[in-house]
Amino acid sequence: TLPFSLFVKAVEQAPVAISITDKKANILYINDAFTEVTGYNAAEILGKNESQLSDKSTPRQIYYDLWHTISRKQVWHGQLVNRQKLGQRYLADLTIAPMLDERGAISHYIGMHRDVTQAH
Ligand code: FAD
Repeated sequence: TLPFSLFVKAVEQAPVAISITDKKANILYINDAFTEVTGYNAAEILGKNESQLSDKSTPRQIYYDLWHTISRKQVWHGQLVNRQKLGQRYLADLTIAPMLDERGAISHYIGMHRDVTQAH
């Protein structure tokens, strides 16, 4: 069987920005690619809300749709405008999946995103 440390390394080194949050989108974990894409290191963003990344130019409807979907235990995929630590805007292609506990209740969310600005 695979050692547990290998799973941890896989997430740490995955070439997509990964974050794990609580049910209110407060950030509990980020991987290395998250730092590359957003400019925030762990010390700067752990405990903050994912809304820290919001450029606020994204239509409210997108956030409403996002929360409507994930709070129903479904996967949301979409694009929104994010802002890096130094203010640079980028188009984020984002997937959010709920993480369920033993009882099937939402315990956390996992977010995965890429900067797709160049693709547009
Ligand atoms: P908020 O006040 O946070 O929310 C806007 C609307 O969303 C509210 O009116 C409400 O309808 C709904 N909402 C907010 N929180 C909840 C909740 N706990 N339960 C139900 N409905 C809720 N946003 C980004 O802009 N960029 C990202 O990269 C990004 N990644 C995310 C990753 C994960 C794993 C999760 C869970 C969320 C992510 N979000 C991201 C969404 C983020 O948490 C904010 O909701 C969003 O940025 C809007 O922030 P706001 O302060 O403008 O509005």
